[in-house]
Amino acid sequence: MAPAPVSVRHSVLTPSLTNRTLLRAFLLTAVAFFAAHPARCSLTLDDSILIAPSQLSNGSPFLITVSLPNPALSVTGNWQSHQISFFPNSDRHTWYALAGVDVELTPGNYPLTIEADLKDKTHQTLHQQLTIETAPYLQVPLTVPDKFVQPDPKSLRQIAADKIVKDKAFATSAAKPLWTGNFLPPLRLAPQSDSFGNQRLFNGKVASVHRGLDYHAKLHTPVAAINSGRVVLARPLYFEGGCVIIDHGLGLMSVYMHLSKIEVSAGRRVRRGQIIALSGASGRATGPHLHLGVRWQGSYLDPAKLYEIQLPTTTPLRAR
Ligand SMILES: [Zn+2]
Repeated sequence: MAPAPVSVRHSVLTPSLTNRTLLRAFLLTAVAFFAAHPARCSLTLDDSILIAPSQLSNGSPFLITVSLPNPALSVTGNWQSHQISFFPNSDRHTWYALAGVDVELTPGNYPLTIEADLKDKTHQTLHQQLTIETAPYLQVPLTVPDKFVQPDPKSLRQIAADKIVKDKAFATSAAKPLWTGNFLPPLRLAPQSDSFGNQRLFNGKVASVHRGLDYHAKLHTPVAAINSGRVVLARPLYFEGGCVIIDHGLGLMSVYMHLSKIEVSAGRRVRRGQIIALSGASGRATGPHLHLGVRWQGSYLDPAKLYEIQLPTTTPLRAR
């Protein structure tokens, strides 16, 4: 197995004694490295990376499929400073990861880098440039009770305590996918309302980006888990009202808000389609509805776009 060539740009190194010494030390180190690590390192810019959907905008979730010539021991990626962990199919030639474009990312071109350690002790680095287009998000004025726009000191203490609880729930995610197959809407019949990504003006004062999808749902409509996972939070919060958070593994979580009744508890495993709660109007809500958020490593993604991605089946999870 031939070591990768080591190239040195001589124009950078002037032939002073110090630089000649440095150059010799560098070459000796490089030779020693490749003698000790007889791995072939290659740089690939081909079509071994497949991104679905092919068009991305801010708020898009996406599936990365990596096809390798040989089985791999591990595959990792880097995207927007996020570390991406891939999982394999049975032959370990094909690896998958779900990732996303933050709703507030400025559209443009951004690099995706993937590193693969193959079973034959070779290493591959794959590169792809992802183009992020502008999603057509709107500005929407809304009216809610003043206590949600200018909370009093007691409410501010509650909001601060809620943040600690949520940060803890978001802090750890399973090291493997807990989901299997496509994600499904939490309410099959209720229509989606306020679009994901809209800029919202609460009482004309506070602007925020809507980081989820709202469903018109009558009070007490059964709410289903959008995929399998483990419940990491199930309790009332100030803004969110009755809230459930499900970890789907590898940094992906779904968040259900304004619930009137919660039917699961933290720590419990749930199946895709399992009823986890009843919808309501609790917390900062303009009326009865379900708010669904999809969060990947701190970035909020459009749930409607997640349903459209054809996903591989992973090991199914049994509910307890
Ligand atoms: Zn909402």
